[in-house]
Amino acid sequence: MGLTDSNPAARRIGVFGGAFDPPHRGHAVLAQTAIAQLQLDELRVLPTGQAWHKTTVLSSADHRVAMTQLAFADNDRVVVDARETQRSGPTYTVDTLAALKAENPLAQLFLIIGEDQASRLRSWHRWQELADFAIICVAARGDSTGAAGTFDALTARLPVLVRLEMPPTPVSATEIRRKVASGQDIAPLVFDSVARYIAQHHLYQSA
Ligand code: ATP
Repeated sequence: MGLTDSNPAARRIGVFGGAFDPPHRGHAVLAQTAIAQLQLDELRVLPTGQAWHKTTVLSSADHRVAMTQLAFADNDRVVVDARETQRSGPTYTVDTLAALKAENPLAQLFLIIGEDQASRLRSWHRWQELADFAIICVAARGDSTGAAGTFDALTARLPVLVRLEMPPTPVSATEIRRKVASGQDIAPLVFDSVARYIAQHHLYQSA
């Protein structure tokens, strides 16, 4: 789609949710890609609360929010927003988008997701309404969790969908947790500040 077609005065806000357990370089590359390609004024990064679509037990919200703040500290377009961690019960992206739209009625919202999440989009709560609030933007993951062809399958069902042209960044939080648990080096996969936080707080000692 022509990204210049929308109202030039509208603030362009990206919405990027995730467990961030821990945040890693794949998240950083995705954030940079979204900001550049979508010409975002702001990227709202939202660590999830009780991630309803995941079966893994997450680290505490305080740790995940703190690590997310460290990981994005140098990016002045990023605002880490902890609202989903403060909600009791399950948190749904559609509710977060509705709230952000109510707070920023003139803004154009862009929902940023990786391809593995996109492949599960139809299981999300009120998924058909997501496109009422935001343009949905999907990045290929370039690792084993990717789901090739998802983008094409979704295009048929969602009217407004943008593919993020992200360099393949094969890293996942799962891999990082496993490496920490088995004493392997995670330096290439996370920012130094996040690696230090993980060590200081003894996170991911068991897989
Ligand atoms: P886990 O391994 O625990 O499932 P994850 O690495 O997928 O975690 P999340 O915090 O669940 O990290 O991801 C948040 C969002 O970032 C999701 O939309 C996910 O698809 C996307 N994402 C994560 N890693 C990458 C990557 N390497 N490339 C592209 N997108 C990614």
